[in-house]
Amino acid sequence: MSETFKALVLEEEEDGKTINSFKQLTIDDLPDGDVVVAVSHSSLNYKDGLAITGTGKIIRKFPFVPGIDLAGVVESSQDEQYKAGDKVLLTGWGVGERHWGGFAQKARLKAKWLTPLPQDLTPTRAMAIGTAGFTAMLSVMALEDNGIQKDAGPVLVTGANGGVGSVAVSLLSALGYEVTASTGRLEESDFLKELGATNILPREELSRKSKPLEKETWNGAIDTVGGEPLATILSQLRYNSVVAACGLAAGVPLPTTVFPFILRNISLQGIDSVMCPPKRRQQAWQRLTDILPMDRLDALTTTIPFADLPQAASTILAGGIRGRTVIDVNS
Ligand code: NDP
Repeated sequence: MSETFKALVLEEEEDGKTINSFKQLTIDDLPDGDVVVAVSHSSLNYKDGLAITGTGKIIRKFPFVPGIDLAGVVESSQDEQYKAGDKVLLTGWGVGERHWGGFAQKARLKAKWLTPLPQDLTPTRAMAIGTAGFTAMLSVMALEDNGIQKDAGPVLVTGANGGVGSVAVSLLSALGYEVTASTGRLEESDFLKELGATNILPREELSRKSKPLEKETWNGAIDTVGGEPLATILSQLRYNSVVAACGLAAGVPLPTTVFPFILRNISLQGIDSVMCPPKRRQQAWQRLTDILPMDRLDALTTTIPFADLPQAASTILAGGIRGRTVIDVNS
């Protein structure tokens, strides 16, 4: 009889409701791929919260194993790039959305989706970074590409207590930027200052109807929430500045005008981590390994057992998760 392993499986009930349960699967249950990975850790991202709770219907085919991030060791490979024993990580490429993902003790994947685990990174820390931290790094790189200078004034990060936001605060401050962290959880201000924020901005100051042009304030911004706050940021960017926008926690519509673009020469740079090309991906992971202060990463990480994942999925959608959550799929 084949060996079994544990997975979180999503199924759809007749009324369209998504339900989740832990099941024992065999290797034959896994979708096609050329590499089998023994998963040691995964992580919880906002998108996983949507998938597990069935919010926004991002999963179309059931049964389904979610989990957009994973780290582990190659068990077997039909691709010459990888051999048994190699340490790997994966974020994006539609894994955990269209292809079964990391909330299982084993995954079968395409070799081209895998990234070798950087030498100085443990699987736990790679997952503490995960899609959220990787997206934070891509956002910082977007600011750099647009010439945002370190000593030219404050850079704003929204959703600062969240996964992307907390890593973005840590990275920017480690690089020497002056960071203002916007949050709805002012009780976590000391935590944000420990990560390197110099100023805290209450969420309400951005979550409101804004004027087309407001006082030029930000030397640059990383926005993880979208909606009205992003429109307010656009109206407050300094001349020639840029906002890297990756998220939608505050809403999808963007109630802005052309004025900040055509009168202040500003840019709105979208960030996508899912289809990021391999070369930029590897650059970003190497920079994360080199720049991110690991004590700060550890401070913003909570590791939970596999069994606690469904509850944590609801909590992240309610905006109740601080920093990053790693899942030890073998505990
Ligand atoms: P988290 O839930 O960890 O963080 C989101 C944060 O946004 C919350 O912690 C909260 O921060 C803030 N927030 C929540 N609700 C609201 C609201 N109604 N109004 C304003 N702020 C709010 O999620 P992640 O950090 O993992 O992801 C952040 C966003 O980025 C998500 O929208 C996600 O879908 C997106 N994302 C996009 C990627 C891409 O490739 N483009 C990749 C990864 C994530 P606080 O309490 O500090 O206010």
